[in-house]
Amino acid sequence: MGADDDDGIRLVGVTRRYGDVVAVDGLDLVVPRHRRLGVVGPSGCGKSTALSLICGLEEPDEGRITVLGAADGPGRLARCAWMPQRDLLLPWRSVLANACISLENRGVPRRAAQARVRPLLDRFGLAGFEDARPDELSGGMRQRVSFLRTLVADKEILLLDEPFGALDSITRAGAQQWLRETLASEPRTVVLVTHDVDEALLLSDEVAVMSRRPGRITARLPVDLPTGSRREVIASAPFVALRDRLLAELEGGW
Ligand code: ADP
Ligand code: MG
Repeated sequence: MGADDDDGIRLVGVTRRYGDVVAVDGLDLVVPRHRRLGVVGPSGCGKSTALSLICGLEEPDEGRITVLGAADGPGRLARCAWMPQRDLLLPWRSVLANACISLENRGVPRRAAQARVRPLLDRFGLAGFEDARPDELSGGMRQRVSFLRTLVADKEILLLDEPFGALDSITRAGAQQWLRETLASEPRTVVLVTHDVDEALLLSDEVAVMSRRPGRITARLPVDLPTGSRREVIASAPFVALRDRLLAELEGGW
């Protein structure tokens, strides 16, 4: 056990190449336990790659990654729930069965898994759709099923890759408010990749800005906002000032 045991996630000098493409280059990043880090940056800068590396689906070419102290791929994978940018729902399974997959994979009996998930369908705007197949749903609904599945995996680390990217703005606002409340009542260690500056500020304790590829962290902004509803927070002076700073950091990067 080392000094980093209180770290949720630690990346030191992490580099990942795909052939000639250097996707991330010497990435250093620490997310303390129970903190939420938003990551924004231009398309193709290595955000999704960073999440795959953290959760152990890929290994770095150089550098070291630990997740709650675990350095090996299977150990990292066991500690992370990853919500991919593209939903990976099983087309032959119903909404309810898809949402239950992570629980069933952990050995929770099907009926118990369904009892846990069913009451949540309403909060995700999926009530009445539990028996529908993914191809009967809108893109936004599929994304919500995918998110529900990620959340009920009960892993301490949540890696969210543009979780609300497919949602229209009204549904997205509701989903953000819901996630704010959910995370406040059950703290987890979160890395949230998003292209939406407001979303990053609303849902994070700190926002990291990534440069163009090869991706490195060029700025970190602590987020300290008044409590209140999403609308109140977005209209508050501290939020407006932070959004301005974040957009300034991003300028030139997009
Ligand atoms: P972001 O999520 O920030 O848009 P990605 O992490 O998806 O960026 O990609 C970073 C770079 O690495 C891009 O140039 C992308 O084309 C490349 N890349 C990502 N995954 C692979 C892969 N499996 N094989 C080859 N190149 C990849
Ligand atoms: Mg991506």
